[in-house]
Amino acid sequence: MHRNLINGEWVEGARVSRNINPSDTRDLVGEYAQADAAQARQAIAAARAAFAGWSVTTPQQRFDLLDAAGSEILARKAELGDLLAREEGKTLPEAIGEVARAGNIFKFFAGEALRVGGEVIGSVRPGVGVEVTREPLGVVGLITPWNFPIAIPAWKLAPALAFGNCVVMKPADLVPGSAWALADILHRAGLPKGVFNLVMGRGSEVGAVLLEDKGVDAISFTGSVATGQRVAAACAARMAKFQLEMGGKNPFVVLDDADLAVAVNCAVQSGFFSTGQRCTASSRVIVTEGIHDRFVAAVAEKMKALKVDDARKAGTDIGPVVDSAQLAQDLDYIEIGRKEGATLAAGGEAIERNADGAPGFYLRPALFTETTPGMRINREEIFGPVISVIRAKDYDEALALANDTPFGLSSGIATTSLKHATHFKRHAQAGMVMVNLPTAGVDYHVPFGGRKGSSYGPREQGRYAAEFYTTVKTAYTQA
Ligand code: NAD
Repeated sequence: MHRNLINGEWVEGARVSRNINPSDTRDLVGEYAQADAAQARQAIAAARAAFAGWSVTTPQQRFDLLDAAGSEILARKAELGDLLAREEGKTLPEAIGEVARAGNIFKFFAGEALRVGGEVIGSVRPGVGVEVTREPLGVVGLITPWNFPIAIPAWKLAPALAFGNCVVMKPADLVPGSAWALADILHRAGLPKGVFNLVMGRGSEVGAVLLEDKGVDAISFTGSVATGQRVAAACAARMAKFQLEMGGKNPFVVLDDADLAVAVNCAVQSGFFSTGQRCTASSRVIVTEGIHDRFVAAVAEKMKALKVDDARKAGTDIGPVVDSAQLAQDLDYIEIGRKEGATLAAGGEAIERNADGAPGFYLRPALFTETTPGMRINREEIFGPVISVIRAKDYDEALALANDTPFGLSSGIATTSLKHATHFKRHAQAGMVMVNLPTAGVDYHVPFGGRKGSSYGPREQGRYAAEFYTTVKTAYTQA
């Protein structure tokens, strides 16, 4: 039994959740205690009590703790990657890569703890000095989704702690294992009691307490648009600071002058890898007339070679969908696409058992062609391995189609034209733009986030994380 971490103690929960391997539903990854509302409140009170001490620790103390956690994560990346692949279903290389990213994030923010600075500015009044400094916020509530079980907790936790905040974290119900491993590492690294609390449990119960309890000063949320809107409303009502990272409907533009192999690789990787379950996945591929047919044929050909199998088996390209509900949603959208008149050019079938006969939530990646921009499959986030191809007559139309979405997380283009690449970088309405690279796959030391319906509030990651996890103070001194 994996328990919750509240005020430095491992405590039983009100219920138990069973963590199931989506590659083989007979395999129980582990049992995890589920906190209830009262325990969530205890965790918040513990974090509040710990804040006075933690917020005045030296940068060196915070560096040492975060650096030690980062080193352990990196040293154990194969083992933790195996756990992640087993509970979430992304392939082993992807899962190990995600764990390494989490380790590097802890090391980056260990350094940031040492680099917290400010400004000294001349006053407009004689004899007066002005200093601008950053201070921690207090208690931060972190609510995370299932699709990056260790990287997203890491990219919220590490800056929160580096800048002197205390934390209550509620991971997604489907993937408690990676979050628990992270809590265990931080606990053993020697974090004082109450500084970091892990409360696994339901969003509607534990998550709701984080949103409503006045003891939480700020919420960092990543997840769906619907939950994000709830977070925004609850935080605005009590004027708590909040930050939201939500859905995407990311476009990938392929121009006539693209290198075909580069374009196909980018589309297949960002459309299908991690089973399409990335907020930065390309789900709309906008292709100009001159390359359209060659591109579609090459993608369909490449799809034949994609091996859909157990996430932890060598040679698997595409692991299972995370659970039965997400699989049902993916299949629904494939049916919706067909009914809307799109052509299902390849894939799209559920597979009940993998090559070894194990039951799992497998889905062959799907390619829709002859789709139009207004179709639901081009407007709504599916969150599965499904690509829709939209024809465009030229670059200008392709750019307009790319921007024709309520979302704005990542946007990509395949082109050998410097002119079009330069124009696209400036005019794509997205927080992240990729040229000749997949829309998914980002560095850990630079800002991450979107615009329009994808994100709200300051950026996450890199030096920009300080905008959310600190508050600015301006001090005036008359000598
Ligand atoms: P979700 O919104 O269902 O859940 C996210 C988290 O919110 C979970 O921990 C959940 O338990 C919690 N929650 C649910 N109801 C709540 C409530 N009433 N109050 C408080 N918390 C509550 O999202 P998901 O299905 O876990 O994740 C998939 C979504 O996440 C997709 O839309 C995807 O695009 C998005 N995502 C976005 C980014 C990004 O950075 N933009 C990154 C990864 C995933």
